[in-house]
Amino acid sequence: MSTTPLHGGAASGFRRMWHDLEALGLEGDSGGYHRFAWTREDHDLREWFAGECADRGLDLTTDRMGNQWAWWGDPDAAVAAGDPGVVIGSHLDSVPNGGAFDGPLGVVGALAAVDQLRHDGFAPARPVGIVNFADEEGARFGVACAGSRVITGALGADRARGLADNDGVTMAEAMRRAGRDPAALGRDDETLARIGAFVELHVEQGRLLVDLGHSVGVGSDIWPHGRWRVDVPGEANHAGTTALAEREDAMLGLAAMIIAARRAAETQGCVATVGKVQVLPGGVNAIASSATGWLDARGSDADAVLRVVTEVRDVVSDFDGLVTQESWTPTTDFDPALVRRIATRLDGLPVIGTGAGHDAGILANAGIRSAMLFVRNPTGVSHSPDEWASADDCLDGIAALADVVTDLAGAGA
Ligand SMILES: [Zn+2]
Repeated sequence: MSTTPLHGGAASGFRRMWHDLEALGLEGDSGGYHRFAWTREDHDLREWFAGECADRGLDLTTDRMGNQWAWWGDPDAAVAAGDPGVVIGSHLDSVPNGGAFDGPLGVVGALAAVDQLRHDGFAPARPVGIVNFADEEGARFGVACAGSRVITGALGADRARGLADNDGVTMAEAMRRAGRDPAALGRDDETLARIGAFVELHVEQGRLLVDLGHSVGVGSDIWPHGRWRVDVPGEANHAGTTALAEREDAMLGLAAMIIAARRAAETQGCVATVGKVQVLPGGVNAIASSATGWLDARGSDADAVLRVVTEVRDVVSDFDGLVTQESWTPTTDFDPALVRRIATRLDGLPVIGTGAGHDAGILANAGIRSAMLFVRNPTGVSHSPDEWASADDCLDGIAALADVVTDLAGAGA
């Protein structure tokens, strides 16, 4: 990579911040994190972020959803001048028993990148913002990227307020308990107008960079992905007294569906997952009267993903089952000109797609110039304590991010 490595201060600052966060939200001795939106852990993480921003003299604001934005320079003067700022950052929340890197790398990395830029004497020609997006994982209320979806209007305020966690606590109530006003929720054009470009640094959630032999890559797009609910009917009956030939066992259709999804994904070059099922009545000695499975399918080619679903539908129809689409997100392309510019700037870095959703994708869909940088993850594992990146690779990613900001927020841009 041609980018200058981080100087000692930014590197030790990164290590110090990483150390600060290590204990926050740690789940017992599993090594995993529990950092759900609007909980005590989330509060502590937000306070930590505010403190780091205050130490750097950045101006912190929160938007209508409670996403935190810290500015180096005046974002509104830049909007008035028709030349809005460059935003970096990511999120601090986690999935249940999540890894340390998904999210925090982008926030800590953004703070360290600002340290590097200041050390270099960089004078931004347009303001530089750092964002901590709220509720990115959707681990508590079930909708991923809720923070960016609400401010872009992709998730309506009423629907967001009504989402409930496993204890029946609504997002509105959780936000109220966290000291926020849920009535404020909604599309936030003032905040969006301040974002001239957004670049999110993130740990890679696969092994493409390992295979390519690079510590950092530039994101090109987010794969098309969807969720389908598959319902198979059956008839409840006694497990001992009902002859096999007389059964209508919903589980057989569900099992056939799961195997069909796997086979179709293999032939179509996609990925398909059934990670959640619901079986009624749910007794060990009762034949299932209904079986429902949720299919998550993704791939680089939307037609191939939809062919997987068609094959599943064909198999399930033999069991009188029904496939219902719950969500579908087409390919999200990051801004092609921005991607090209970043790839050119970071001469020689590979440009890669990803199967995971991100706030950068939500902003891109809202018409905001967005792109991503990925840091190599040797395990390829994510959403698990095994998610990992070496300190050297993280520092490479931060150096690349600082270089990109130099380009995008510099006088020549
Ligand atoms: Zn993430």
